[in-house]
Amino acid sequence: MPMPSLGAGREFDRIRAVLAALGDHAAGAGDDCAFVPSDPGVIALSADTSVEGVHFRREWLSLEEIGWRAAAGALSDLAAVAAEPIGVLAALVLPDDLGEPETVRLMRGIGDVTASVGGKVLGGDMSGGRSLAIGITVVGSCMSPVRRTGAVTGDSLWVTGSLGGASAALLSLQAGAAPAPAARAVFARPEPRVQSARWLAGRGARAMIDLSDGLAGDAGHLAAASAVRLRIDIAGLPVHPDLVSRVARTGESAVALAAIGGEDYELLVAMPAEFDERNAAEHLHDTGVPLTRIGVVEAGQGVSLTEGGVSVTLRSFDHFA
Ligand SMILES: [Mg+2]
Repeated sequence: MPMPSLGAGREFDRIRAVLAALGDHAAGAGDDCAFVPSDPGVIALSADTSVEGVHFRREWLSLEEIGWRAAAGALSDLAAVAAEPIGVLAALVLPDDLGEPETVRLMRGIGDVTASVGGKVLGGDMSGGRSLAIGITVVGSCMSPVRRTGAVTGDSLWVTGSLGGASAALLSLQAGAAPAPAARAVFARPEPRVQSARWLAGRGARAMIDLSDGLAGDAGHLAAASAVRLRIDIAGLPVHPDLVSRVARTGESAVALAAIGGEDYELLVAMPAEFDERNAAEHLHDTGVPLTRIGVVEAGQGVSLTEGGVSVTLRSFDHFA
């Protein structure tokens, strides 16, 4: 399969440099998963790393939640291509203060989220080290993956669930306060949208990506891969209610924070123009997850963000910032 283009960002510049150096020795980068032919269909594979102090703090989460969250981020990439999870491999770097009971708690979180989407823990590895790090490799299967590359002019753009719940929790945690319970649940135990993805694939989804780094940044990758422009009006974003109440006191824009906030693990999907609000209501009925129309696919490149029709510029999350 040809490699799609990645959007802007320093992390992605680094990936581009690695791919350029590997040349023919690399295959399959540039989407949410890599694909290996299988008969029938493909095997979808992806890897994700969570590092203490970079992706999580031990004082904010239980070990079960750290495990859940690390595996959920990787399983979300299977959702993003509408693959059926087979399972995960977990490679752990464990500091000295984490012994057997702590390792079991961490792995229980990984096992619970994997089981929640129908997969199993397939294997892994453990090593000692200075800080806790969790490398998760996910394996799934699908007849025909929904890639980032298929969006065409005239498609409508939709997001699952709500945006900004994880940001609301993070803002509270960073301020030394207890997050609202619903926001904390999004942050600590995000639900990979496997069921939604397979439902959407069955209704003709053309292109899809999971929102790990935030809508504003991730939309750029879908636009680059499909060689189109995404026009999104952030005034219509389904903002998590706890983010709205969190910023009510500070005067910050809840929609702007929802658009740049990462780690909600919702899906951004391009659907054919005929997909409408009635279909979205069916999706809610079948999966329990709302689906909100947020924009359209146009000719051009990049992402055009407006708020009530007025152009806005937002920064996006960068792991190397
Ligand atoms: Mg992804």
